[in-house]
Amino acid sequence: MDQENTLELNEEQQQQFNEIKTNLATVKQRIVDTCQRIGRDPASVRLLPVTKTVPAERLRIAFAAGCLEMGENKIQEAREKSEALKDLDIKWSIIGHLQTNKAKYLARFANEFQALDSLKVAEELDKRLQNEGRAIDVYVQVNSSGEASKFGLAPEDVRAFVMELPNFSSLRIKGLMTLAIFSADHDRVRECFIKMREIQAMLRQEAPAGLSFDELSMGMSGDYELAIEEGATVVRVGQAIFGKRPLPDSHYWPGLG
Ligand SMILES: *Cc1c(COP(=O)(O)O)cnc(C)c1O
Repeated sequence: MDQENTLELNEEQQQQFNEIKTNLATVKQRIVDTCQRIGRDPASVRLLPVTKTVPAERLRIAFAAGCLEMGENKIQEAREKSEALKDLDIKWSIIGHLQTNKAKYLARFANEFQALDSLKVAEELDKRLQNEGRAIDVYVQVNSSGEASKFGLAPEDVRAFVMELPNFSSLRIKGLMTLAIFSADHDRVRECFIKMREIQAMLRQEAPAGLSFDELSMGMSGDYELAIEEGATVVRVGQAIFGKRPLPDSHYWPGLG
């Protein structure tokens, strides 16, 4: 079914549709350009649109404009939107820190969880998914910048953590996720991405059988081209598609400015 044809848009909504469609095309083109410049296959990079703070009505338009996957940072917000949009076949990805007591909500509707960084959450999520008869794709979040404001495992703790993951049969381990340092200094940003690639290489040698670390989710609106240069297979892009967020980044990453 072509969703575009089933959505009646007024003038303002048509404008939103056009804007999202244009931005999406621009980001996709920049991904292709970056890949071609460094000799990577553009199909090896997945664009995950990040939809936090964008209201459900606008996401309905975004879906029609080609955003079939949506990344959300907060489980409550994601849950409300997935309810409001349950008539659409959207793939929801949770990309923010999860409290153990919220795992049950994630287990009900999310297709993917990119921010696993504790065994308690792994255990609870696995249990809840089994109750639902579901399995989802999971990424282990690493704090590649060492900043106290960021969630994720310290790089030196990743190996031991990963050794425990075969215990959780409903978590399909696919790779690693990180947020690089927020800095105008490209070298410092790049260092974070390089560190991730090194951890990935180590895990490919040493991780237990059955887990895959082929995916590297890294890069946002400000740094996705750099991330692709350093091996990102998933880029999480919000503001370059939906415009500037009304809330400052410190709302999402406490301790930041
Ligand atoms: C908000 C967010 C993004 C996207 O950031 P933009 O600057 O909007 O591209 C990526 N990853 C995570 C974990 C986020 O919370």
